[in-house]
Amino acid sequence: MIKRQKYGDEIAKAEILIEALPYIKKFSGATVVIKYGGNAMIDCQIKKMVMQDIVLLKYVGLNPVIVHGGGPDINKMLESLNIESKFVNGLRVTDEKTMEVVEMVLTGKINKEIVSLINEIGGKAIGISGKDGKLLVAEKDTANGDIGYVGKIEEVNIDVIKMMLDKGFIPVIAPCAVGKDGKTYNVNADTAAGKIAEALKAEKFILLTDVEGILSDVNDKSSVISRIDLDAAKELMTTGKITGGMIPKLKCCIQAVENGVKRAHIIDGRLTHSLLLEIFTDEGIGTMIGKECFDDDNL
Ligand code: ADP
Ligand code: MG
Repeated sequence: MIKRQKYGDEIAKAEILIEALPYIKKFSGATVVIKYGGNAMIDCQIKKMVMQDIVLLKYVGLNPVIVHGGGPDINKMLESLNIESKFVNGLRVTDEKTMEVVEMVLTGKINKEIVSLINEIGGKAIGISGKDGKLLVAEKDTANGDIGYVGKIEEVNIDVIKMMLDKGFIPVIAPCAVGKDGKTYNVNADTAAGKIAEALKAEKFILLTDVEGILSDVNDKSSVISRIDLDAAKELMTTGKITGGMIPKLKCCIQAVENGVKRAHIIDGRLTHSLLLEIFTDEGIGTMIGKECFDDDNL
């Protein structure tokens, strides 16, 4: 007991590590695709903590793959260049000039900021866009009429990611795609991350965003749906309760789980260490989407 008093704090820390042991064992070697959302990466402190979590995941044996967004930064840059932002059904109307700015901000600014932060913390990150190694090949998306260089992903070539994972790197991916016509296309980051998770047959696909999870009532923060199976998720899409940016999120989670990803999670990226809470605790946080869901199956 003397020992316990003297080392009380340290023992508490050791116990926390031991609690994580079953999860570390289970997920060692597993691939986790993390979508880091535009709106959840505004706060610098939080951004650094998210990257610390990701570096920790790597050091305990998981293989994190990051796909990032960048909406707010893109809007700011377009505004400073006096280019108007127009949206149709939540999709940015992307003419040639806008596409240039989108690519510049995503691949030049945000991607390299994330890479620098990870490297500074002690991880080894490589930043690429969906154009590198033809990771993402798109066709013009005409579902909403002609809205310019908005792409629909037709092909995913994951060799370039595998190469990086094999050598111990953390891939950081900007959601730009190469078109079959050789042009550059803007693709929704959630959709891109989901397709990459599918192609990698990821154990987990985690979307960090700026809301607690999927809410059954968008005005009530306490209405988070903590677990939902595929059938119920599809049903939920038809209720009108899912709007705006949550539409592509839930859609790509459903598709990812249908195509072999074990679990998809929509969690609050603004919450300190949300990734660790989700992966290494019994409760988990946010919303989990699985083929089937059981009360006790975060492990
Ligand atoms: P990100 O930048 O992470 O992609 P988005 O703004 O595109 O974030 O999508 C998240 C937003 O979706 C939330 O901030 C919220 O306003 C909206 N949303 C719509 N329906 C729901 C819902 N049922 N539950 C939670 N959020 C919802
Ligand atoms: Mg979004």
